[in-house]
Amino acid sequence: MPVPTHTREQWNDRAAELHPEGRAFIGGEHVDSASGETFSSINPATGRGLGEVAAGDEEDVERAVRAARRAFEGGEWSESAPADRKRVLVLLAELIRERAEELALLDSLDMGKPVEDAMSVDVPAAAGVFQWYGEAADKLYDEIAPTAATDLALVTREPLGVVGAVVPWNFPLDLAAWKVAPALVAGNSVVLKPAEQSPLSAIRLAELAAAAGLPPGVLNVVPGFGETAGRALGRHPDVDCLTFTGSTEVGKLFLRYSAESNAKPVWLECGGKSPNLVFADAEDLDRAAEMAAFGIFYNQGEVCSANSRLLVERSVAEEVVERVLERARSVRVGDPLDPETTMGPLVDERHAGRVLSYVDAGREAGNLRFGGGRVAVDGYDRCFVGPTVFDGIANDARVAQEEIFGPVLTVLDFADDEEAVRVANESRYGLAASIWTTDLGRAHRLARRLRVGTVSVNTVDALSPQTPFGGFKGSGFGRDLSLHAVDKYTGLKTTWINV
Ligand code: NAD
Repeated sequence: MPVPTHTREQWNDRAAELHPEGRAFIGGEHVDSASGETFSSINPATGRGLGEVAAGDEEDVERAVRAARRAFEGGEWSESAPADRKRVLVLLAELIRERAEELALLDSLDMGKPVEDAMSVDVPAAAGVFQWYGEAADKLYDEIAPTAATDLALVTREPLGVVGAVVPWNFPLDLAAWKVAPALVAGNSVVLKPAEQSPLSAIRLAELAAAAGLPPGVLNVVPGFGETAGRALGRHPDVDCLTFTGSTEVGKLFLRYSAESNAKPVWLECGGKSPNLVFADAEDLDRAAEMAAFGIFYNQGEVCSANSRLLVERSVAEEVVERVLERARSVRVGDPLDPETTMGPLVDERHAGRVLSYVDAGREAGNLRFGGGRVAVDGYDRCFVGPTVFDGIANDARVAQEEIFGPVLTVLDFADDEEAVRVANESRYGLAASIWTTDLGRAHRLARRLRVGTVSVNTVDALSPQTPFGGFKGSGFGRDLSLHAVDKYTGLKTTWINV
């Protein structure tokens, strides 16, 4: 664990000084919602309000899309030199690093993640994404197609125009960065709708982008609810592309919104039920167990690619489970502002109830080996659910098939490679998987056969700005990160010149 940056008292002092901006950011300025309606942003650790946030709806989305369109047509960003875009995005990365404490606090207070995790992971990762795409800006070349000497055929990538981005609450700043950075580097304007549970860092991000020199209207943020603001963005006829991260259920709605409006391309990065395969020949079973625990308990298990199904070779299953339980016992559930805390509250009471209903289903389906309930923290136990481990569960049970999005691990066992692959693939999802083995041949063979977007070998959750991230099957079809993500926000144009 990295060295904590502050004590609990210091973090509390800083939190007390924070006055989060809750207004929308449209056309380069903060604005109230057109209706004047607001909603309270609630800290799940305390149940107390952090401030009022503009409840954007159709009219606000309309204003934001108009501002984005105006900015796009104006050309100040969309037609700017790639080196100028680079300068702005790299400076934005720098400003994010300068504001690390504030951004980390906003996400921690908004959705419950330990603030030191936000400091060491979320904020540097978001800055890294802007930096990486910024640096790529003037290194992307177009093509000249092979033709006869009588012709010259240029194949160029052009920005699509106005990109709508709808993101969830589990990594609020990072997932906004994953969408916004590649869309901007390609020259688009963006209307970002953060999740209603965690809108604060997105609003701050837009301010920082403006301070870095992004022209007004190029990045707009409309906070609000899914059924109002999210739906309006999905159905807007002047939005050229919609990029979504969230649940599969809501992702499907965006396909429908597109069909009912202007047939805009829709990119979906959705949920998962990722298998983590541990073979008896893993170099270090203790390390595999440690990472298995990390893979499901990190960020309260609220991770799309959480390793929620642990598949262990039968001969070492009990040994690995014992080691995972040891790690589960060492998880410190508590105040997210306490640097000792490794697990904060779930995002809200509704979600905590949902996770606990899966725990009830798990009790019926198999053996509860650890946890299984709320944890009292400083006398306040609303949203804190502790690490939970089940085994003896069949892979077709609900807890093994449905995304729980909480710190709940289901352990299954297997006899050989065939069974491991079959059980791993018996899922409606296909986001990620891990394999622990010293047999490189096996790792390659299995990696090919696993129907998932990312296979991590001898680690979990491998990802970086350089590599695409996304899934197969119910996990969606879009890819965030890497240069492939830029393709989502551009269209190919052929210009054929008869010379
Ligand atoms: P969600 O689908 O409920 O919400 C995601 C976003 O969609 C939010 O901004 C929400 O306001 C909006 N939304 C909700 N209902 C809507 C509607 N009817 N119309 C339009 N917009 C609507 O998801 P969540 O609970 O915020 O996040 C958890 C989900 O996100 C999990 O399934 C998780 O796996 C997934 N996720 C996926 C990735 C990935 O990269 N694949 C990353 C993180 C999270």
